[in-house]
Amino acid sequence: PQTGHYDVVIIGAGPSGSVAASLLHQQGKRVLVIEKQHFPRFSIGESLLPCCMQMLEEANMLEAVNQAGYQFKNGAAFNWQGRSTMFDFTNKFTPGPGTTYQVERGHFDKLLADTAAKQGVEIRYGDTVAAVDLSATPTLTIVDSAQHSYKISAEYLLDASGYGRVLARLLQLERPSSLPSRTAIFTHIEDNIDKVELGDRPFDRNKILISVHPDNRDIWYWLIPFSNGRCSLGVVAEPHLLGDLETDTSNILMRLVNQEPYLKQLLAKAKIVRECGRLAGYSANVSTLATDKFALLGNAGEFLDPVFSSGVTIAMQSASMATRCIVRQLEGESVDWQAEYATPLMRGVDTFRTYVQAWYDGRFQDVIFYESPNPKIKQMISAILAGYAWDENNPFVTESERRLNMIVELCQ
Ligand code: FAD
Repeated sequence: PQTGHYDVVIIGAGPSGSVAASLLHQQGKRVLVIEKQHFPRFSIGESLLPCCMQMLEEANMLEAVNQAGYQFKNGAAFNWQGRSTMFDFTNKFTPGPGTTYQVERGHFDKLLADTAAKQGVEIRYGDTVAAVDLSATPTLTIVDSAQHSYKISAEYLLDASGYGRVLARLLQLERPSSLPSRTAIFTHIEDNIDKVELGDRPFDRNKILISVHPDNRDIWYWLIPFSNGRCSLGVVAEPHLLGDLETDTSNILMRLVNQEPYLKQLLAKAKIVRECGRLAGYSANVSTLATDKFALLGNAGEFLDPVFSSGVTIAMQSASMATRCIVRQLEGESVDWQAEYATPLMRGVDTFRTYVQAWYDGRFQDVIFYESPNPKIKQMISAILAGYAWDENNPFVTESERRLNMIVELCQ
């Protein structure tokens, strides 16, 4: 009975899948979402960027998100060797929302998927996409939780499977990332920061805190406050810098936290409330992002690095861009998927890539911690860090490498 034909089948009900499903449904398209897990399920990636509020609005999901009680976020704070600096996302070059939220993804992803379902989208949980045949009409082989397999065909396939990277694996599209392999270790804590005496360095719960290891600028930490007195805490480094990975992961995390004086002070009364997770080698790339039969969204295509919290924003941006092309194609127009989807999407991804690379080679850290920044330049960078990496009016987007290098020289 499950077999059928749809306009679009979407693999995965994370943020990119739910937003894409909602946008297509609003255009009158028959959409099916296949999600292998049952929600809520844990996912890393908890700090959103203001830019993604636009896509949530497009998908008619903004009201549900605004009412969910998530932690308000208006910027990013950075900390290294006693120096603190911050970007206020409401003070930015590009127009558009300047605030957003920090969310526990189990709850957030379920909220988006449930909102899409309320709008009328069909989502099947517990079913896994196992094979794909593109020789004629795109057809997926799906295995349900009772291990029965069935087939679904569609005019178009969207891969929103995140780290599952379903089509990249099944169609041999995987390519190595341009970035070196790094490992993240993370957990949730009852932070108890309000019980710590912080003197002249108060903690701002409305911002993500990115700290840099005092002696090794390749190691950095995130502290992402939630609205329930908890935080997401993580550290990122090349694997050899994390020490013996056989030992208890929480020991590695807390040993590194204690090497960073401000974090050590902030988290003096913190308690770990979730088993520590570890993700290695998460940066990934593909040879093809889209054809006239399928497109890869978000992490199912390329994933760069967590440092600027760009993952969910790129995922939703890709959903918005791809669904516009799909609607046109389904209505009989011909779409040049490279020119109209892959290239424009990569504009923004490449902007983030410039800053990620410059973060790790130290150039962008020099800019961030520079004591007397030019306010106009800071607004242009603030716009990018707020997620507006596709704004062609921002010279730090259109000529990201050259402009960045100009200010690096001024700051060094
Ligand atoms: P996902 O949210 O991963 O959803 C994919 C879904 O597809 C899953 O539910 C999965 O069960 C399903 N699926 C997989 N395989 C199959 C299959 N075969 N059949 C059916 N369903 C399937 N991003 C941010 O925005 N902010 C951050 O602060 C941030 N921090 C990060 C920290 C780290 C260490 C890492 C590694 C990433 C971080 N990210 C962050 C990135 C973020 O996690 C992802 O970009 C984001 O989750 C991508 O969303 P998505 O919708 O593409 O995929």
